[in-house]
Amino acid sequence: MSYVARIALRHRYAAAERRQNAAHGASRGSVSAIMPALKGKKTGQIQILAALWGARTLASCLILSFALIACAREKSTDAAPTASSTLLPTAMNSDDSAPKPSINSARAMQYVRDVVAFGPRPIGSPNHKKVENYIVSHLRGITVEDDAFTADTPEGKFPLRNIIAKFPGTRDGIIVIAGHYDTNYPLRNTGYVGANDGGSSTAILLELANQFRGKKREGCSVWLVWTDGEEAVKQWSATDSLYGTRQLAENWQKDGTLKKIKAFLLTDMIGDAELNIEQDLNSTPWLEKLVLQAATRLGYQSHFFGRSIPVEDDHLPFVHMGVPSADLIDLDYGYNNVFHHTPQDTLDKLSPKSLEIVGAVLMETVRLLDKM
Ligand SMILES: [Zn+2]
Repeated sequence: MSYVARIALRHRYAAAERRQNAAHGASRGSVSAIMPALKGKKTGQIQILAALWGARTLASCLILSFALIACAREKSTDAAPTASSTLLPTAMNSDDSAPKPSINSARAMQYVRDVVAFGPRPIGSPNHKKVENYIVSHLRGITVEDDAFTADTPEGKFPLRNIIAKFPGTRDGIIVIAGHYDTNYPLRNTGYVGANDGGSSTAILLELANQFRGKKREGCSVWLVWTDGEEAVKQWSATDSLYGTRQLAENWQKDGTLKKIKAFLLTDMIGDAELNIEQDLNSTPWLEKLVLQAATRLGYQSHFFGRSIPVEDDHLPFVHMGVPSADLIDLDYGYNNVFHHTPQDTLDKLSPKSLEIVGAVLMETVRLLDKM
């Protein structure tokens, strides 16, 4: 995760008012998305207005409010580089009889513990190799592909490896769910274990593999990707970050895979016990809307999109190549994100419930994508 997001965080409180007014409606793009803002903050004002001025005045006020919110939305969307500004029709409205997905969150949490037990896992380290082997050892019976290459970094050359598990579907199109397994390189000698940043994403993908394993997929193919070299080795920049996904997006562009990807769903730092998934302004609006629809069906919407910030993460190479992408990331890890990229990113801050929320929302999002 990037510098841009950290800067955004520093300005969090100064921007809080603006976000509540503008970003709430920012890219959800529908009247129903605007309603929470009205419900949460403006109900009292609306009632007083109604009493004093009567229904006609109220109607004018509402029209004015909607117009203002609409302007804010437009501005915010303009400012955000997104893969597509088109809001595609979402999946047919929830078929409520469909079973609600869930995962084995205790098992997912055990995966985090196992991964953290290896210690720091920066690229080029023996522990990094151990976690690679650990991931692959949990994918028996699944078609696994390696995307191994040498990355040229400011600290020299490193062998990197994206690991791809494939679950073929009955329909055309691929849904990619990704997350990184390397830990921060500059903190490699501080005891930093990245329980949330690197650990939680590795674990949720392993648990999703269990969910998809051995079941016939009536829908698009699902590919799980453990990405490598997400972290910067010196200082975050366009060339010092996202080593694995830059390589992968380029390969997939060359071999034609990219065109088949219906959605790229990214998970990063999703284990925080106080889970607040950001609405990422670099993600594709219609896909974020679908994620929110999935979260809402499962009753988890209060953990999603409380604020809107642009995030630089492993989805960017795909966003830049026009692949619909959504980053599920929580950058409020401890007060003011205080645990992020510090040796305090440890297991005790995490909760299996958060893994359950993100895992189930991802599975529900896949179900909705299959229906589109
Ligand atoms: Zn990180």
